[in-house]
Amino acid sequence: MRTVIVGAGSAGLVCAWKLSADPSHEVVLVDAGTDPGPNVPDELRTEILLPAHYYWQYTDEDTGAFLPRGKVFGGSSAVNAAAAVRGQPWCYDAWDSALWSYDACLPAFRALEADQQFGQEDHHGAEGPIAITRYEQSAFDLVFQDVCRRHGYHPVADHNAPGALGFGPFPTNRVDGVRLSTLVSVLPLIRSRANVVLRPASEVLRVLVSGGAAHGVVLLDAQGQHVVEADRVILSAGTFGTPEILFHSGIGPADDLRNADLPVLVHAPQLGTNLSDHVLFQLNVDVTDASQLPMPGGQGTLLTYELPGDRHPQAQIFAYHAAFFDPTAGPHAAAVTASLVTPESRGHLALGRGRARVRLRHLSAPLDRSRAADIVTTAAGIVDDLAAQGRVKLPDAPWWRSEDLPQACRAQALSYHHPVGTCRLGRDDASVVDERLRVRGVDRLMVADASVMPTIPRAHTNLATMMIGYRAADFAAE
Ligand SMILES: Cc1cc2nc3c(=O)[nH]c(=O)nc-3n(C[C@H](O)[C@H](O)[C@H](O)COP(=O)(O)OP(=O)(O)OC[C@H]3O[C@@H](n4cnc5c(N)ncnc54)[C@H](O)[C@@H]3O)c2cc1C
Repeated sequence: MRTVIVGAGSAGLVCAWKLSADPSHEVVLVDAGTDPGPNVPDELRTEILLPAHYYWQYTDEDTGAFLPRGKVFGGSSAVNAAAAVRGQPWCYDAWDSALWSYDACLPAFRALEADQQFGQEDHHGAEGPIAITRYEQSAFDLVFQDVCRRHGYHPVADHNAPGALGFGPFPTNRVDGVRLSTLVSVLPLIRSRANVVLRPASEVLRVLVSGGAAHGVVLLDAQGQHVVEADRVILSAGTFGTPEILFHSGIGPADDLRNADLPVLVHAPQLGTNLSDHVLFQLNVDVTDASQLPMPGGQGTLLTYELPGDRHPQAQIFAYHAAFFDPTAGPHAAAVTASLVTPESRGHLALGRGRARVRLRHLSAPLDRSRAADIVTTAAGIVDDLAAQGRVKLPDAPWWRSEDLPQACRAQALSYHHPVGTCRLGRDDASVVDERLRVRGVDRLMVADASVMPTIPRAHTNLATMMIGYRAADFAAE
């Protein structure tokens, strides 16, 4: 059985690893990005701000903000911040499919990780390819924790324990300074497998479909266009890349396809809709003692808590050295950051002339605006306490003191870079893929990446996406 997997990112590489463990499966793993080879360059192992050629060029149509997506083997896992948080059981139970309940997903989460502190616990694994540890705590983190305690939150040792809420060390897949992306941790496991073919620097243009079934892809490399035939195609090109390929294969809302002079193979009205992302806000302050700041990518505390409301609305607050994301930041610059990790707002991805047109539409839902104001008020209270203790200095006119805070939040909204949901899975006919990740209306075509999430987890999305890639291999092998 020959499978083409399009996209060697978080999900695609994991799927290729799991599927090719059975030698009867031949896997061709295609990515538009490069394969840096066995000696991964330092920048891809450690840096968060990378040269432009490692990214796709997407922007938010409404705000003009650059939306980074990794274009290299490892995908976005190779350019991300390496926070390793799973989310809550109710994140997955809300996907409304017994196949994707937390209990059903747990074995895959466990198989993927080697948790250095809690590997022996029932809900953790100790032998997977992705090592997970917890950040050390800087002097500033300890003060931050103390303030959290005084605000009524409880300490948690393991943010990945089911139901964990409170403050504690940030879980991370950055170990000894190295980001354990799928490029670093998974690709070496399959490089020498005889049944795996790697095709870097090859952009897939469309899926070939005949008689209602996929039988290969058309790709473009330095030599020109080529057809790669296969018994099955799995799209793992990410929340923006996968719907683009589907559109160009004649799958999508029929009117949009016709308007773009594309054939209508399958009318998939919801393709590109349901785009969901975490929104975050930065309260920028200066610490009085720079030596106490969390080391970029090495130390940090995470606070999670629930807001009033149905279905467990949840927030994150954490502080980090601003230099982590901004090389021009001074030695004293810190960002106390607040995020609404249960957004109701939905964005949209549509066909564009070049890359797809993306609208994240953060805070478009009124409930998100009031919740954002609530979260920022809580973060501001923490900042005020830190200032009262002489630990930080506030800017002259902090934006978070605005009289119209919901509106100020709208102006300050940033992406946490966790877009999901454009190829929603579901039991209903309107979903783009079914519960086993098969594209509705086309045989032998699956999607396995962050795009299939019906709702966004209350956590950074990398672990959940790798879990999807792992389970996709099981479904493909059935
Ligand atoms: C800057 C940044 C910081 C982040 N920080 C964190 C974090 O700290 N923790 C966390 O959990 N998550 C984080 N995330 C999110 C997380 O990395 C993603 O959710 C996850 O990697 C998505 O995985 P994926 O498999 O869906 O897509 P990707 O990993 O993006 O993989 C898609 C792959 O498909 C390839 N591709 C796309 N189109 C084509 C095509 N037409 N032909 C061939 N190949 C194609 C791409 O090159 C890419 O390699 C961050 C993301 C970014 C960008």
